[in-house]
Amino acid sequence: MIQASRVVVCVFDGLRPDMVTPDRMPHLAGFIAGGRSFPEARTVFPSMTRVATSSIATGAFPSRHGIVGNAFYYPEVTRDFVLDVSKAEDIALAEERLGGKFVTADTFADVLAHAGKSVAVVHSGSPGSTYAINPRVAQNGHWTFSVLGTRHTRTPSAVEDMVARFGPLPPRTLPRFDEIDYATRIMTDWVIPEMAPDVALVWFNEPDTSFHYRFLGSEETRAVMRSADNAFGRILEAIRLRPDADDIAVLVASDHGQISSSGEVDLAALLTEAGHPAAMAAQRDLSGMALAVTGGNMGEIRVLDGDLERRDRVARWLMAQEFTGMVFTPSEDPVQGTVPGTFSHRLVGLDHGRQPELVYVLRSNLDDDAHGLPGLGLITGSVPVGGGMHGGLNRHELNTVLALGGHAAITPGVHAGAAGVIDIAPTILDLLGVSAPASMQGASLLQLGDQPGGPVETFTAGECDFRQELTLRRRNGVTFAQHGQRRA
Ligand SMILES: [Zn+2]
Repeated sequence: MIQASRVVVCVFDGLRPDMVTPDRMPHLAGFIAGGRSFPEARTVFPSMTRVATSSIATGAFPSRHGIVGNAFYYPEVTRDFVLDVSKAEDIALAEERLGGKFVTADTFADVLAHAGKSVAVVHSGSPGSTYAINPRVAQNGHWTFSVLGTRHTRTPSAVEDMVARFGPLPPRTLPRFDEIDYATRIMTDWVIPEMAPDVALVWFNEPDTSFHYRFLGSEETRAVMRSADNAFGRILEAIRLRPDADDIAVLVASDHGQISSSGEVDLAALLTEAGHPAAMAAQRDLSGMALAVTGGNMGEIRVLDGDLERRDRVARWLMAQEFTGMVFTPSEDPVQGTVPGTFSHRLVGLDHGRQPELVYVLRSNLDDDAHGLPGLGLITGSVPVGGGMHGGLNRHELNTVLALGGHAAITPGVHAGAAGVIDIAPTILDLLGVSAPASMQGASLLQLGDQPGGPVETFTAGECDFRQELTLRRRNGVTFAQHGQRRA
């Protein structure tokens, strides 16, 4: 049994494991090579930050934690617009209407609070991502600092205290060099040496932001990846200086990957033309609409009056479009959706009471982008064409960085079988000798031995000319989506 004195978690938003090479990110590549790594780790679906963050926090799929999209329509909270989980005011509204139960499963931080243990988070993402990693931070008596200011965290005094100590918050630039540096200073000069919490977690908003707006393989993106890697090196050095350095476990992760966008589809306009007046979520106004649609490279389609016949017609229309990659509908069946040709939400762990009537994924493939990185797909907008996107089931969106090290008793090795972001929370608890609640579907990474890989299963669904397939790996009744795409 490995008992850690403390756990330090470093999350690099959007980082693709195949881009962690010794020339791009020497500290991180060295750490992974010398530690226990999980090269086939997968995020959840939708492969989006707030969904994945909730899975990292709860050790569970969206079917349990209820954050079924970065944005989703939730009439119990409001019928006026689609909830945007990045916005502090939308989260506050949901928390108020739901009596604090927006995230519907216990988090590792909730469990640690009951065990009398401390959690400190240094975050540089949106208020929603900062919220989701420890939604009940104030009740838990924990500490969440946001490099973006007091409005981005539910413990604003953390920001006031750090500004008093380290000076004004950094300016917002692209790439986010200054935010990486400030967050790193809080970790190396305060959280690790002075606060010394049981769990310290830092969340870097790069390379995600630069992937989106400066493209995956560009010079600027390579520069910010070096900067994030340098930050990781500084954090390892701060740990090495501690008297209990050999007992501190370090976990590195990303929340999802990204692929490059190859073209744009105006989905709301096309649906409207097809006789289904549709609004994209960002419009924040659903008056006169039949459908509410979220975008990116996938999204949900809500039939606002609940008309199932319209849902079926929209599903069949989607499957007849060349740009459509995959379509999901709710179903009791574990594989096939209610509408013939679609997959079931249950196949991807999306079967929560908040599940949408329809989920679409735009077409993607494994072709190389302009910088020679595999993974190309269509988008509905929100970034320039060529920019990175995620949300779907392409292997390069699903595959995440996941490795353990630091603690002297963690033996180096490679587990190439099923693993994923849902394993992070149980691992943190295991490292601290705290048992995981039954709601956690993940397993402790410490319990997974070396494994060369494992069998995959491929499921197909289709109707007429439309055929989709999804490959997954199983582990003790839990399934990890590996790769999904349209076949015809
Ligand atoms: Zn992310």
